[in-house]
Amino acid sequence: MTQEAPEKDTEQSAKQLLGFESRLIHAGTTTDPYTGSVNVPIYQTSTYRQEHIRGDVKWEYSRTGNPTRAALESLIADLEGGVAGFAFGSGMAAITAVLSLLHAGDEVIIPTNVYGGTYRVLAKVFDHFGIGYKVVDTQDLTAVEAAIGPHTAATLVESPANPLMTITDLAAISQIAHKHGLLSIVDNTFMTPYLQRPLELGADIVLHSATKYLGGHSDVVAGLVVVSNKELAQKIAFIQNSTGGVLGPFDSFLLVRGIKTLGVRMDRHLENASYLAQHLRDNPAVSRVYWPGFEDFPGHDVNARQASGPGVMMSFELAEGYDAPTFFRSTRMVALAESLGGVESLVCHPASMTHAAIPKEERDRVGITEGLIRLSVGIEDKEDILADIEQAIQAARK
Ligand SMILES: *Cc1c(COP(=O)(O)O)cnc(C)c1O
Repeated sequence: MTQEAPEKDTEQSAKQLLGFESRLIHAGTTTDPYTGSVNVPIYQTSTYRQEHIRGDVKWEYSRTGNPTRAALESLIADLEGGVAGFAFGSGMAAITAVLSLLHAGDEVIIPTNVYGGTYRVLAKVFDHFGIGYKVVDTQDLTAVEAAIGPHTAATLVESPANPLMTITDLAAISQIAHKHGLLSIVDNTFMTPYLQRPLELGADIVLHSATKYLGGHSDVVAGLVVVSNKELAQKIAFIQNSTGGVLGPFDSFLLVRGIKTLGVRMDRHLENASYLAQHLRDNPAVSRVYWPGFEDFPGHDVNARQASGPGVMMSFELAEGYDAPTFFRSTRMVALAESLGGVESLVCHPASMTHAAIPKEERDRVGITEGLIRLSVGIEDKEDILADIEQAIQAARK
């Protein structure tokens, strides 16, 4: 049965000896036995012919298991260093599956800057089932420990977290979680396993909106989950098959294809982000740049310890005398759009877009101001991205 956590066979063990960039290309995907095709075929099928009843079949129905999805699932499990991977129809479907491990009366700790959709699904959906949440500034480990009560069952954190790139110490959070018998869950969307591997830092579950850097081309919506042990693998497999929010074969193929170039894309994203961050910081029309690569950025050292790069997302604030709405009307190559992590540069206005659901006083308190601009730095020529941002800033002068 495909719900079982896959045993590591010798072929997979041999692949584990390969370097990370080789595994991006070779892990998970087994060569097609019929044709030798080097890419995983798109098994666009809902069901599979069985020889007789009560047989021990590997594939029976595509909600339960599909070979294209399975190639992706073993690939992400390998890259994150877990025992099994699971692919879902979106990042939110992945988060919903993981939260479905909780029971009525349980409570989950989430960070102040948590992804808006995670906050919404807890506040407006899981709330109906008696599952609670506590919002905590997870930069402050004492506050995390103080927030743990008799009903706390899990921590679900992100580092860096949107839109101020807040850093959380993932090893310390996992240690605190385990000391109190909680599950440690990390949303690793912003970093990808190329830069940060939360399971190696002690987390039990890592999840992704694969819509972002893993897919990398803004052409697929998907979510991934990887777990650190067999017991969790069996539980998530059961939830995935029971609730059914699975990723289709074509989208699974697109993700496998996208992940092959993750290393080269992230290297270029990093180069461009570093260039943009330095130049924006030197621009008198910009009052502040939020980017974990700066040595004086809060959490810089923690991030440097737990990740192999500063991250490629950043936010900046326009100085007094510059009008944010005009800035957003004035970019040319760089599009105003939700989402991030694609090859193309995108800007968004957290106060009215990604974080609009948070009340204004709360937004102002944490620093999500009207002049705050979030930038997903793409892999275009860095000079072109900077020139476009700079001309839009000039146009925004009141
Ligand atoms: C986008 C995003 C999600 C939600 O993923 P979808 O694929 O849009 O459902 C979750 N967490 C983070 C950090 C994200 O950026």
